[in-house]
Parts: sequence; C-alpha cells; structure tokens
Amino acid sequence: MLRKAGRFADGDGEVRDAFGRRINYLRISVTDRCNLRCYYCMPEGDVPLIQREDWLTFEEITEVARAAAGLGFDKIRLTGGEPLLRSNLVGLVAMLGRVRGLRDLSMTTNGLLLDKYALPLAEAGLHRVNISLDSVDPEVYREKTRGGDFKRAVKGIRAAQAAGFRRIKLNCVVEWSSEEPDAREVASFAERVGLEVRFIRRMNLAAGEFWVVDGGAGGDCARCNRLRLSCEGLVRPCLFSDVGFNVRELGARAALVQAIEAKPESGEQCVTSTFSQIGG
Ligand code: SF4
Repeated sequence: MLRKAGRFADGDGEVRDAFGRRINYLRISVTDRCNLRCYYCMPEGDVPLIQREDWLTFEEITEVARAAAGLGFDKIRLTGGEPLLRSNLVGLVAMLGRVRGLRDLSMTTNGLLLDKYALPLAEAGLHRVNISLDSVDPEVYREKTRGGDFKRAVKGIRAAQAAGFRRIKLNCVVEWSSEEPDAREVASFAERVGLEVRFIRRMNLAAGEFWVVDGGAGGDCARCNRLRLSCEGLVRPCLFSDVGFNVRELGARAALVQAIEAKPESGEQCVTSTFSQIGG
C-alpha cells in the first residue's frame, strides 16, 4: 500500500513504498541503441532492438517527469543504451529542465559524443554526468567495449570538465573489486584529472547477481529510492525484476503509483530485458 506523507500537488509531498523507503529518483532510458558493445552489458552479436516508433516521444517523457515531480520525485537521470545517440537530446534536457520540483538532472554516458554535446547539455540545464571508463589502457578499453576509442572517451571527459557541470563521476565496472589493476589505474587517472570514480561490480540480470555500488547507492535495496522508465514506456519498480507498468496504457501517474506499490523489498532477477533496454 502506497504511504502518503502529505498532499501531492506539484512536488510538495514525498512518497514512500511499502517498506518505508522514500522514492524520489527516476532513471529514464531514452534509447536502447549504443555505439559500444561493452562485454558486461551487451552480447557480441545482434541484440533485439526496440522499434524507434515504440520509443516514448520527448513530450511523453516530459509528461512522466511532470507526474513524477507531482509525486515528490526531484531527481532524474537520463540513460540508454547511449543517451547521446537519441537525436536532439539537448532539446529533451531543456524540456525536463522546466519541470517544476526537479532539483537534480543528470546523465550516464560512455562519453564518446560528449566532446560535441557537453556544453550544449550544460547550457540546456543538465547538472551532472557520469562517464563510463573501465580502463585507461587504450587496448584494454577497446577490448572491454568491443571496439571503443579510448582517446574519444578522454576527449569527452575533458569537454565535460570544460562545460562546467556541477559534478562529474567516472563509472568503472570491475569483476570483483576496485583493487583490480585496471580499476586502480582508472582511480589514479581520476585523481590526476580531479574527478570522482565509482566502482560497479559486474552484475548479472538473469542470475540476479548484484552488489552495492562502491561510491554510490545503486544495489543497496534497503535504501533504494528509484524507479526506471524504459524507452518504450514501462515504469519498472526494480532493475532485478521483470515487472513493468505501461505509461501509455495506464497514464503516467497511475503507472508510477502502481510501480511504487509493486516495489519489492529487494531485487531478484530480470530475464526479459538487457541492461541496454532498462538503462542499468
Ligand atoms: S535491486 Fe531493485 S530494490 Fe535493489 S537497489 Fe536495485 S532497483 Fe532497488
């Protein structure tokens, strides 16, 4: 049963799930397309892709964001696939920037297109970015991303620093721990360039394997504050679950409320989707 702590008009209340957790953070996947094939996210071969015509329009995404803000949500993160592959993403950021009640608008990207978009995104109202960087060895980087160009990622990081975002973090996926050689090198790189780094232990959706993110809140079910919106319009209560509520069928607010009511105490497994479809 959804517990209310105040009247819900224009974000002047907050919402809690059945376990008393405040839910105020919406991760929005704007596309399932990506210009990389990271070994821990996407299979090597063809990936079943969501039809473009099924993607939510920017107006629909903004409507969900407004409904979420009306329920007391104040944080939104744009994800993908690779969000910068969605054309005119700067336009969506500007639309979301006008949603009353939102105090934190961020994005997770692989950074390859940031040299082109960092400044326009910051000017449109994006506050923070997380940039994936699993190695500073160009060959290892190419291997882990199945073809990525390390130099382009670094160019993107520099452009983000020049754009003046409130905060920039590096996301580094590790097999076991931040003590792995690649992780230690990413940590020293981050220190050299004055950035924070988070270590994300490799997860497995189908096997239900996940851990608390080192340097973040992801994977910490007891403190979970998030919902996810997939690019075709499913509000998902949990990353490690197959449950989703369709905003086009139910309406934005009802889909959000039902997702909060269905939020599990902790994640189990997800066998119907990939990270690139849910947005990690
Ligand atoms: S597994 Fe589910 S409940 Fe746990 S932190 Fe992730 S999204 Fe939240």
